[in-house]
Amino acid sequence: MRLAAAGCNANMLDAVLITHLHSDHITDLNDVITSSWIGNLSEPKPLQIVGPPGIKEAVDRLLLFLSPDFGYRIAHHADLNDPPEVHVIEIESGVVELEGGVTISTAPTDHRPVDPTIAFRFDYKNDAVVVAGDTIPCTGLDQLCTGAQALVHTAVRKDIIKNIPIERLQDVLDYHSSVEEASQTAERTGIDTLVLTHYVPAFPSGQETEWEDIATQHFSGKIELGDDLHRVEIGEL
Ligand SMILES: [Zn+2]
Ligand SMILES: [Zn+2]
Repeated sequence: MRLAAAGCNANMLDAVLITHLHSDHITDLNDVITSSWIGNLSEPKPLQIVGPPGIKEAVDRLLLFLSPDFGYRIAHHADLNDPPEVHVIEIESGVVELEGGVTISTAPTDHRPVDPTIAFRFDYKNDAVVVAGDTIPCTGLDQLCTGAQALVHTAVRKDIIKNIPIERLQDVLDYHSSVEEASQTAERTGIDTLVLTHYVPAFPSGQETEWEDIATQHFSGKIELGDDLHRVEIGEL
């Protein structure tokens, strides 16, 4: 839904990149597969799904889960004869073999016991953006960030969460980066623009400065906070 609101329908996608198999990062994948398949009115094109080892089995099970739907739609639409074609690439580090003008590379991150997890770096001309999933500071992410202009990083307010006496909530602290840690990763690796996302807890609109103030204590570059559909431009326009 956010993609569509940003002007990109599912059938325009060539590939989907997955950082790890936590439910909050993959439970909409089924709808992307279905929407890109039935929304494509021209030649069928395979959807490529890139993720850490384990993604192949997850996608295979997802396709099994969707198989009744595939049957209904093939029976109903005269011009639809085959289920969606999905190509899965499992990777933990190195360059992702995808066509196109953007070079995508990946490295392992640290979100244990969720393992393996990966982050992605997108290089285009002289600029690069790194997108980290859930992780604590780690060398894999540092390596990807070195020489990049922007880092999109998840952030948890550990100062708030640690005061809530619910053990299951406390458990999220040891495998996520705080705002401070995400900012320190950006500073350490020479990033120009830090884009925070995946906020825990969700910040109420209007309290962005509180998060920004924490980040600026550890990061000297530009800080971007936003709700869904927040747009950031980097590099030469
Ligand atoms: Zn996670
Ligand atoms: Zn998450």
